[in-house]
Amino acid sequence: MSQVTPRVAAVTGGASGIGLGIVTRLVADGWKVVAGDINAVTLHEAFGASDEENVVGVVCDVSVESQVARLVETAVDRFGRLDCMVNNAGISGAFGPIHELDVAHWDFTFGVLARGVFLGTKHATRQFLAQGGGGSIVNMCSIAAWDGGTGPQAYSAAKAAVQNLTWSTAAELAEHRIRVNAVAPGSVITPMWMKGRDQSDVDRALQLQPLKEPTTSAHVAEAVAFLAAPEPAMITGTCVAVDGGISAAGTDLA
Ligand code: NAD
Repeated sequence: MSQVTPRVAAVTGGASGIGLGIVTRLVADGWKVVAGDINAVTLHEAFGASDEENVVGVVCDVSVESQVARLVETAVDRFGRLDCMVNNAGISGAFGPIHELDVAHWDFTFGVLARGVFLGTKHATRQFLAQGGGGSIVNMCSIAAWDGGTGPQAYSAAKAAVQNLTWSTAAELAEHRIRVNAVAPGSVITPMWMKGRDQSDVDRALQLQPLKEPTTSAHVAEAVAFLAAPEPAMITGTCVAVDGGISAAGTDLA
């Protein structure tokens, strides 16, 4: 009887929130996963006691090329290959008037959100090509990429960059059968989302959603798991909103 080779994924920002939800879901689906995160403490809390047969935690800052390269190398060393890269790591960045925004803050936000996705795409693609092509990349976008809103300018602009990079790399890499897609959450109550917010913001977020159920990391992971797998073979360059209908409703509910 032939043995089915397990699929292997690398997930950045895998120690918390949506990333942790994605790792948990992929492992439940039978994937082997390398979870990268800049935070060694939460990484250890999440995976320190876990069975290394299925999931391995690696300290990785997505804005540093050598560390992203090492994340991919770990997947290959530990599990023999890479089938999917989930570029999920993120920060919210500071909010404030544009005329008071620090250049350092702008650059830092783009370093994590935009350069991080570029580096994950670059090193996953190198590995996919070494394996003879195929593979899937899923980028964590945001519905903030699609409208301005007020406040998190660097965050929204960086997510718009992620959206555009998803399109351009999907077109470029199609000849190698590498699919590139994105997922755009609305409001998911995670440690990042709660920063500087309280329960009234949670209530307001739910009010803005046509679907009156809180969007969770598991809901986002559902979409990622679908796009990560090879079965949706003709889906590339798309961005799936997991926002309970916020972007469909536009400002009607605001
Ligand atoms: P989170 O803070 O719970 O998790 C983010 C993880 O990324 C953390 O474990 C953090 O340590 C890690 N991280 C931060 N900087 C990193 C770096 N330089 N290198 C590697 N890891 C790093 O936040 P979350 O809400 O789960 O966010 C995950 C992704 O989802 C982000 O890209 C975020 O922009 C996106 N997103 C979240 C929401 C939401 O409502 N929570 C909405 C839209 C998009």
